Amino acid sequence: MRARYLVRFDDICPTMNWSLWAPIEEVLHACGVQPILAVVPDNRDPKLQVEPPRPDFWGWVREKQTAGWSIALHGYQHLYETTDAGLLGINARSEFAGLPFERQREKLLRAVEVFHSHGIRPEAFVAPGHSFDQHTLLVLQELGITVISDGFFLYPRVHQGMLWVPQQMWQFRPAPLGVWTVCFHHNRLGARDLRRLIVDIQRFARFTTSLQDIVHTYRNRGSRPIDILFARLWRLVLRAKLAAKAALAATSEAVL
Ligand SMILES: [Zn+2]
Repeated sequence: MRARYLVRFDDICPTMNWSLWAPIEEVLHACGVQPILAVVPDNRDPKLQVEPPRPDFWGWVREKQTAGWSIALHGYQHLYETTDAGLLGINARSEFAGLPFERQREKLLRAVEVFHSHGIRPEAFVAPGHSFDQHTLLVLQELGITVISDGFFLYPRVHQGMLWVPQQMWQFRPAPLGVWTVCFHHNRLGARDLRRLIVDIQRFARFTTSLQDIVHTYRNRGSRPIDILFARLWRLVLRAKLAAKAALAATSEAVL
């Protein structure tokens, strides 16, 4: 298998589900996997308030960054303000897309300030709900963040002044080639999904890589026709899956 995998955990914040996180952290260390942690700088989303806040949260994040894990800026407060699906067009809700440049600048500036005040270097941007627009990209560049973890390409590519490191999977799947980011939301994982996650990390660990390595390898790779074609196809598949899921939910509601 020549494919390479990046592992990303979203919604990392002081009040996340630490009980479920403990065994995940243990297996990541045991297998030498260096994930991306998408950290919410100033969480205000009640859905991410699962357990009492960890008092040494920022020290813990600093420790992980020192150990080679990559820390990404996951929005600002994780509150959706608009119904704009942004450049990717996946979810019609956003903390950024559709807001004026100055408003986005204000939010992202504060977000970066929170990181800096705790001695954290934002290595990439992860938009809540996959939703951001051209303004978001311009502000990020102004703030010195030039890596975005999103998009449905087969390989990372430089586009619009940013290195786009694609994020296409929500669970590990074997692939013959490509760079795949597998994104997990651990806060509400059921026991079965947690077990599967742990087993998958053990199985795929030797095919994983780190964001630093990916940035180093792909920082000069421009767009190629295959990227555009693959992204279109992947988005079609994803939309069809989301539509099927919504239809299924509507049917079960009608039955109930
Ligand atoms: Zn999130």
